[in-house]
Amino acid sequence: MGTKYVGAHVSAEGGVQNAPLNAAAIEATAFALFVKNQKTWNAPPITDEQVAAFQANCKKGGFSPAVILPHDSYLINLGNPDPEGLARSRAAFRDEMMRCQKLGLCLLNFHPGSHKGEMGEEQCMDLIAESVNLALAATSGVTAVFENTAGQGGYLGHTFEQLAYMIERVEDKARVGVCLDTAHLYASGRDLRDRPSYDTAMADFDRIVGAKHLKAMHLNDSKSGLGSRVDRHHSLGEGELGLEPFRFVMQDPRTDGIPLILETIAPDRWAREIAMLKAFAESLG
Ligand SMILES: [Zn+2]
Ligand SMILES: [Zn+2]
Repeated sequence: MGTKYVGAHVSAEGGVQNAPLNAAAIEATAFALFVKNQKTWNAPPITDEQVAAFQANCKKGGFSPAVILPHDSYLINLGNPDPEGLARSRAAFRDEMMRCQKLGLCLLNFHPGSHKGEMGEEQCMDLIAESVNLALAATSGVTAVFENTAGQGGYLGHTFEQLAYMIERVEDKARVGVCLDTAHLYASGRDLRDRPSYDTAMADFDRIVGAKHLKAMHLNDSKSGLGSRVDRHHSLGEGELGLEPFRFVMQDPRTDGIPLILETIAPDRWAREIAMLKAFAESLG
């Protein structure tokens, strides 16, 4: 068994340099963060002092860039059918990529985008791929990590075929990847609750998208039902998925070396959830 890196999407309140401290406090070995306030379009630039403090805190906590998974702002829609909204989203996404680059990070996790019922799926996915191409051309060293969605609100990327379609259209294949969110998989109609279902989902991902593109996972239980296309996270073991899928993930060699991130709803349980996941990785069968 290779090394597993487990953490949570921790707070960066007070500045990005606080995120690795918050991760270390819950004995995480990986973490996610927002590199700017996720609810506003404009944020002050990251200062050189913040970069230095962030990198020092990461070093102290033992977090290498490969296990740090920044998440982009929820406001960004890289497939926005409205040209003005699209331009604003593309500028904001490029800014987030640059922030990651400045921090010395190598991944940026994002939700592909929504057609909002105003354009066809392929047309929207073409826009999304072009948005990613523009951001990659303006930066270096940062991989764009598509997150699979629950399929809520016209958000694309809820099937492996859609993820493959968009990745196919990204020019720099070395800088494109996928983050699989277990709650989104389940809500999109992929069962993971027993070994055969989990194995089928992962085998389909490999066949349709390619296992080499798996750069991260979000480990969330789901409040909403199988195929409901409703995005509602829950604490591990408290939702419809139960604990078994997380045991499968922690014992799967395909998740070695990548960030495995909790976005579960009760931060006061993260330390316990992380300890449980680590134990799953160590137990056999
Ligand atoms: Zn997300
Ligand atoms: Zn997620």
